[in-house]
Amino acid sequence: MRFAFYTLGCKVNLFETQALEQLAAARGHEIVARDADAVIVNTCTVTSVSDHKNIRAFHRLRRDNPHAVIAACGCFAQTDPERIRATGEIDLVCGTTDRAKTLDLCEQAVGGAVDAPAPAPDAGFEQLPAGVPQGRTRALLKIEDGCDNFCTYCIIPYARGRVRSLPPAQVEQEAARLVASGVHEIVLTGIEIAAYGRDLHPQVTLVDLLVRLLEAQPNVRFRLGSLDPQLVDEAFCARLQGFDGLAQHFHLSLQSGCDSVLRRMGRRYTTAQFLACVERLRAAFPDCSITTDLIVGFPGETEQEFAQTLAFLRRCAFAAVHVFPYSVREGTRAASMPAQIERPLKAARAAQAKRVADALRSTYLSRFVGRTLEVLPEHPSGGCWAAHGRYGFPVYIDDPADRCRKNRPVRVQLTGLHRDGLRAQLAPAQE
Ligand code: SF4
Repeated sequence: MRFAFYTLGCKVNLFETQALEQLAAARGHEIVARDADAVIVNTCTVTSVSDHKNIRAFHRLRRDNPHAVIAACGCFAQTDPERIRATGEIDLVCGTTDRAKTLDLCEQAVGGAVDAPAPAPDAGFEQLPAGVPQGRTRALLKIEDGCDNFCTYCIIPYARGRVRSLPPAQVEQEAARLVASGVHEIVLTGIEIAAYGRDLHPQVTLVDLLVRLLEAQPNVRFRLGSLDPQLVDEAFCARLQGFDGLAQHFHLSLQSGCDSVLRRMGRRYTTAQFLACVERLRAAFPDCSITTDLIVGFPGETEQEFAQTLAFLRRCAFAAVHVFPYSVREGTRAASMPAQIERPLKAARAAQAKRVADALRSTYLSRFVGRTLEVLPEHPSGGCWAAHGRYGFPVYIDDPADRCRKNRPVRVQLTGLHRDGLRAQLAPAQE
């Protein structure tokens, strides 16, 4: 059979689709871009914009695969199956678990009619094979699913269920398999990786797991997905300091820089506690890149509260801020909160926050100009090589003498700001 896959949303969704592609190929199926016999679309529902993107994708996939069985899985399928069925484009609506079964259902459906069971979010952790096409520099490794936090604006716990973790021994096996396939960097991802291991017996922590991986695979770089600031305590820094294999890029999810808004969001830290995490990381990893997510226009957000948030962004001096206008999610507590902010004001605040974020990013990147850095060339890009170092920002290497090779580390001299990162030339010793 010819299978096509399409992913919307986060790294966890991307990991799951990559895994399904691998399983399909292992079953002898052909992976195609269009005119497929079966299509699996992995959906997202983190914002209302995501829902619209899903529906547009359904119509496009039906147009590109007119005779295919199309299966929708993922968070939108889990939380709003009827809305998906109402589009008339989707044959099978699965959920956020039992992904491998989605392949079985497609195979059966192509062979004749089949009825998908109602999606159940709370099954155990479904281990899917990590993997990327041969030669890729970086691979995702899903270590955790679900979330127990129920932030007031978030639909994810309703889509993904409670925290479930992949036991450390299996994580280590998957990491070893990825390294054997030629991967140089592994991104540990999940819905709420700060909660990793909470459900395991005996309990383990994300730091326990990371130390185990860094010791087992000293020649590979490990990068962490989005982190809850509460995880970043003294022990976190003390235990991880000194590992060359740890990417010094920490994505600490802030969401608001104002305590009263954080309380309404149901976030479990204050701005003072968040700032202490930032300072702790900078003390342990002086040049580290700290990035974050920010929601603007949360219900009731006053001009004064928003001003506090902008000031706090500057105080934390982030290397990047991903800005999202608040999106009403039916079924969450925030959806029924008073004083919902009008769309134009949300858009204006998002634009203002982005301007602050852009200035902070230039300031962070500029401090590296003139310095040397070891980076990993990944692919040619616009006449130079796109590469990454341990701080996570992209580096674009001018290589007139064609010295760079994919996945072979080089030392570069950083010469200036360029696109979303820095421009560089090979450091003298490399010439
Ligand atoms: S921590 Fe909060 S925002 Fe993140 S997935 Fe869980 S409920 Fe959603």
